[in-house]
Amino acid sequence: MSPRRPDISLNVPRSIPMTDLHFDNAFVRELPGDPSGGNEPRQVAGAAYSLVRPTPVAAPRLVAASPEVAAMLGLDPAAPGFAEVFAGNRALPSMTGYAMAYGGHQFGQWAGQLGDGRAIGLGEVLTATQGRQELQLKGAGRTPYSRGADGRAVLRSSIREFLCSEAMHHLGVPTTRALSLVATGDEVVRDVLYDGHPAPEPGAIVCRVAPSFIRFGSFELPSSRNDLDLLRRLVDFTIATHFPAIQSLPAAERLAAFFREVCERTATLMAHWMRVGFVHGVMNTDNMSILGLTIDYGPYGWVDDFDPDWTPNTTDRRQRRYRFGQQPNVAWWNLQRLAQALAPLFDGVEALQAGLDRYVEVFEATDAAFALGKLGLLDTRPGDEALVADLRGVLAAGGMDMTIFFRDLALLDIDAPHAGTVGAAFYEEARRVATQELLDGWLGRYAARVREEGSPEGERLALMHASNPRYVLRNYLAQEAIDWAERGDDAGVHDLLDTLRRPYDEQPGRDHLAGRRPEWARDRVGCSMLSCSS
Ligand code: AMP
Ligand code: MG
Repeated sequence: MSPRRPDISLNVPRSIPMTDLHFDNAFVRELPGDPSGGNEPRQVAGAAYSLVRPTPVAAPRLVAASPEVAAMLGLDPAAPGFAEVFAGNRALPSMTGYAMAYGGHQFGQWAGQLGDGRAIGLGEVLTATQGRQELQLKGAGRTPYSRGADGRAVLRSSIREFLCSEAMHHLGVPTTRALSLVATGDEVVRDVLYDGHPAPEPGAIVCRVAPSFIRFGSFELPSSRNDLDLLRRLVDFTIATHFPAIQSLPAAERLAAFFREVCERTATLMAHWMRVGFVHGVMNTDNMSILGLTIDYGPYGWVDDFDPDWTPNTTDRRQRRYRFGQQPNVAWWNLQRLAQALAPLFDGVEALQAGLDRYVEVFEATDAAFALGKLGLLDTRPGDEALVADLRGVLAAGGMDMTIFFRDLALLDIDAPHAGTVGAAFYEEARRVATQELLDGWLGRYAARVREEGSPEGERLALMHASNPRYVLRNYLAQEAIDWAERGDDAGVHDLLDTLRRPYDEQPGRDHLAGRRPEWARDRVGCSMLSCSS
C-alpha cells in the first residue's frame, strides 16, 4: 500500500515572494572572515568562517518541505524557483555563502580544525515570530573545511536528517529544524559499511534552520590556537546575539552566566533525549550546539527494545562511547571541554565549576520530573526514585519496547493491574515469561502509588499522553521511506512527516506506524546499524 501524499503547500498561511525575506547576516558581518577565497582544503586561522558558494547541482527536485518551517520563514515551497534556491543553484538578494570554522573532540580525542565541510550558510532571516533564523544547506559542495571529502550528502541520510529534525521539534525536544529536502539529480559515491564496496547513491540537500549553528567546537578551535582575541569576539557575539537576557547583565557576571546557561540548556536537552529514547550516535563536541539544540543528525537511532547500552552507530560498536544510557555523562564531558576552551577568558575556575555542577543539578531534576510525567504522577513522594530506577531494570530485563510500554501503561486498570495491558511491548515470548514476576511486582507498586496519590484519572491520562509519544521515527520506518524514495516514490517521506507532526495524538489508520520493530529489521543495515558514512 502506498501511503497518502499530503499537499506540502497546505498550512502555509502568509507566504510572501521569496525576495521579500529580510536577511540580517550578523555572523558574517560582525566576525572576522577568512581573507583567502576558494574552496581548496586549508587551515583557516584568525577567522570564524570562510566565504564560499554552493556548487550547483544537476537537476534539483523538491522532495519534501516542512509546512511549519516554511510558514515561520514566510516561504511558499510551491513558489517557482524554490528547489533551485534550496539546492544552492540560485541565490536570493542578500543571501551570502559561508562555511563556519570549528574544531572538536571526536570520540574523546582532540581532532583539530574540522569546520563546515559540506554545510554552507546562506544567511540569517529575521522572522516575524521566531526571531533570527539562520539558513544552511547541508550537502552543498566543497568548502575549505572539506578535507579530502566531496562536500555532498546522500538521499538516505538527508531523509533521516529532514524527518528527524521535524519529529524532534514536534516531540518538544530542542532541535535545529529542516525547511526542505531537495534531490540533486547527481550521484554521490559512498561505502555504506566501510567494507571496500563504494557505490553511487542519489544525492540530496537539506536546508537546515536554527537561530545559530555555533557549536562547542567553534570556541575550542580558537582556544586551541591561543587566539584569545577571536575567542573573546565569538563569545561576545554569541551572548549579544543569542543570549539577550545575559547581555543585559553587568559585564562582570556575563561570562559566568553564559556558561551556566549553556550547561542548563544542555542538561535539559539530555533529559529530553532520555525521555523519548533518542540516541544521537556521534556526540563529538563539534556536534554540540551552543544553544542546547539537537544538531547534526547522522547515525542516530531510536530505542526500540529498552537497552541503556545500545548504540545505532556501527563505527562506535566496540567502545560504545555514545550509547543511550551514557549520553548525559558524555554531555558533561563535552561541557568540560567547553569549559577548558573558555577558561582563558575567566579569572579562575570557580564559575566554570559552578556551571558544571549546575549541569548535574538541572539534569537530575529535569530527568526526574520527566520520569514522573511519563508515569502520570503529579507530585513527588518518597520512593519515587526507586520506582523509576526499578522500572528501568524491568524494561531492560524484559527487552520491552520503550515507546509502546509507556503509551500502553496509561491504560492500566489501577484497581486490578494486569501485565497484559503492556504485553504488546514485548519482543520475545521467552523474555516475557522470564520477566513476568518482576513486571507484576512493579505494576502492583505503581498502581498502589497512583491510588495513593488519588489524582483524577483524567489528569493522569492527560499527563501521560503528553509525556509519552505514540509515534516516533523508528529506525526501520525511516529506512522503509528511504527504500521507497530511492526507487522514486516520495510518499513514504510525506506520510512520516505528516504523522510525526502530531506524535502524541492517536491517529486512526496509522497503527502500522506505531507498532514494534518487525523481526526483519533487527539487524538490517539502516534499521539498527548505521555508520557515519552519509
Ligand atoms: P560529522 O561526523 O557529520 O559531524 O562530520 C565531521 C566533520 O566531517 C565535519 O567537519 C564535517 O563537515 C565533515 N564532513 C562529513 N562528511 C563530509 C563530506 N561528505 N564532505 C566534506 N566534509 C564532510
Ligand atoms: Mg558534525
